[in-house]
Amino acid sequence: MSERGSNAWPARFAKPEHTVIVGTGIAGATAALTLRTEGYQGRITLVGAEAEVPYRRPPLSKEVLRGTVKGERIRLKPDTYWSEHAIELRTGTTVAAVDTGAASVTLADGEVLGYRNLVLATGSSPRELPEAVGVPGVHYLRSLRSATTLAAALAGRGPVTVIGGGLVGLEIAASARALGCAVSVLEAADRPMSRVLPAWLADPLSALHWDRGVEIHTGVTVARIEHHPRRGGCTVSASNGRAWSAATVVAAVGTVPDTGLAQAAGLLVADGIVVDEYGRTSASGVFAAGDAANLPDMLHGGRRRGEHWNEAMEQGAAVATTIAGVLTPYPRLPWSWSDQHGVTIQVCGRPDLATEHEVHGDPEARDASVVFRRLGRVVGVVAMSRPAEFRALRQLALAAEGGR
Ligand SMILES: Cc1cc2nc3c(=O)[nH]c(=O)nc-3n(C[C@H](O)[C@H](O)[C@H](O)COP(=O)(O)OP(=O)(O)OC[C@H]3O[C@@H](n4cnc5c(N)ncnc54)[C@H](O)[C@@H]3O)c2cc1C
Repeated sequence: MSERGSNAWPARFAKPEHTVIVGTGIAGATAALTLRTEGYQGRITLVGAEAEVPYRRPPLSKEVLRGTVKGERIRLKPDTYWSEHAIELRTGTTVAAVDTGAASVTLADGEVLGYRNLVLATGSSPRELPEAVGVPGVHYLRSLRSATTLAAALAGRGPVTVIGGGLVGLEIAASARALGCAVSVLEAADRPMSRVLPAWLADPLSALHWDRGVEIHTGVTVARIEHHPRRGGCTVSASNGRAWSAATVVAAVGTVPDTGLAQAAGLLVADGIVVDEYGRTSASGVFAAGDAANLPDMLHGGRRRGEHWNEAMEQGAAVATTIAGVLTPYPRLPWSWSDQHGVTIQVCGRPDLATEHEVHGDPEARDASVVFRRLGRVVGVVAMSRPAEFRALRQLALAAEGGR
């Protein structure tokens, strides 16, 4: 395989060959379309369990819940795109098994597809809240289908309790409030978005929610959820004795990578499908990208799993470029965004590792950018309502990390 920069087509690629991609999320879809833009001549089959053609997931907790954008408007590409680019799109189709020895996958209906390269872009699923197991009426948000169901529940305008004050939980809370619901967020940590924001940046965000009528209760551990079949709704009780009655309960307590297929195939799995910096798994010709992949952290050591849109997209593109013949590492600097009550919060790198920081603007007013440094080196950037500044500062962080 050539390094990036060489255009030579690798002689070992006997055409026609077949790349099978499992998962029609952003990682899988980007892998398919990048293969074509990189000049890949082989057959491409993109298989996804969801019934819909590939669509953008981030609007689900925002515009789709608020009803300002319909499901058809969030499609990644026009419906004809896939056939026009000779990508065989198989929606509503689950891959039931992978046989790495025979280099084939078996679909749920028994059909067997041989592959030269296989990309596992199986994504992740909402983490199930133990206290909600078997309790009817607790919602999770991941797919367009679940967004449609939740949107219908929120249209009832009753009180909503969101369990989990991370990115998705806070966006659901903001959308439910915009629809006129009374909303409480229950968060176990001492602040919302605690995994990505220091307290002095999370506090103004909390204040924004309170200003807009969303109650955020921190340090709350859910002990029990009781469903009321007759009057409808649930009561959520916390271990501190407090209880919240809600017409709609949503659990948003993180995600777990979908690794069942990989594990059954004997691939190395540890909080995700274990890959190297090029997305290669422990089996020859098998790659993993997106939320499902667990990759080496090339900047800070150890391993990590991305759970964000841009990272999944960039990984899908990198893996495809590698398959097309130009060995391409995964980008090393993750970044993400969130929209809450009209404020866009953007985060890149690892602010949590910083030893010092430099603030531009006013975090209290949710109008600021912050550069985080560790021993003088930029390790992260956070921006609130400053997208242009974020773009520029992200370049600074990229430059500090060697360009990617
Ligand atoms: C509501 C919501 C809002 C979000 N908002 C933001 C945001 O504002 N900013 C941000 O950076 N990130 C956001 N994210 C995160 C981002 O959307 C994800 O990181 C990204 O979609 C992951 O893409 P993926 O392709 O790896 O996986 P997924 O999008 O999960 O796609 C995986 C696909 O694989 C399919 N699949 C799994 N197993 C099989 C199988 N055996 N056979 C066939 N198909 C299979 C699944 O059905 C699924 O369609 C949000 C996520 C959610 C749920």
